[in-house]
Amino acid sequence: MNVEQVYKDASALLDGHFLLASGNHSSRYLQSAKVMEYPKKAALLTDALAKMIKEHGIEVDTVCAPALGGVLTGYELARSLDVRSIFVEKKEGGMELRRGFEIAKGEKIIICEDIITTGGSALKAAKAIEALGGEVVAFASLANRGFCKRVGGNDTAKSECALPENTPLFALDDFTFEMYAPEECPLCKEGRSEAIKPGSKS
Ligand code: ZN
Repeated sequence: MNVEQVYKDASALLDGHFLLASGNHSSRYLQSAKVMEYPKKAALLTDALAKMIKEHGIEVDTVCAPALGGVLTGYELARSLDVRSIFVEKKEGGMELRRGFEIAKGEKIIICEDIITTGGSALKAAKAIEALGGEVVAFASLANRGFCKRVGGNDTAKSECALPENTPLFALDDFTFEMYAPEECPLCKEGRSEAIKPGSKS
């Protein structure tokens, strides 16, 4: 599957000047919400992801997504894997399980994001799950921004990657485009634009 083409077809690969969740700037942005707009197309992506996860013999009880970005992908992946779907939400300094969701001790959980950049949100979700006794068996995302190591893809993690080295990351493809610390951003230095945040405001 050509994931880049799927993003292009959905007008979800944006060019401009963007502020990422990590605080860094980039000239390109993956707007996964646009790719997930049509449930049948979304299911093709998560079916492919589920196939990779199954082929590697990963046993899963539940998919957990960090809200808001990962929720649709997590829900569709849970459908593809035929398991339960839950999500965690932001709190000061981390993530927490709300809305009456529960986790059994030793429950095998995949943390699912739309995109893994440095994996910061996914790591916070994993910590929240582990604090409740769940076992994080893998991470999953539609695309990997190339900082983290993924199964079947780039085989070294860059120092920016926040994910634990011993837990596999499954993603359909690598999208490696530059990102910059704000003070080093060439687009800011040009002075013609300000970085905008194309995702959620919070
Ligand atoms: Zn900038």
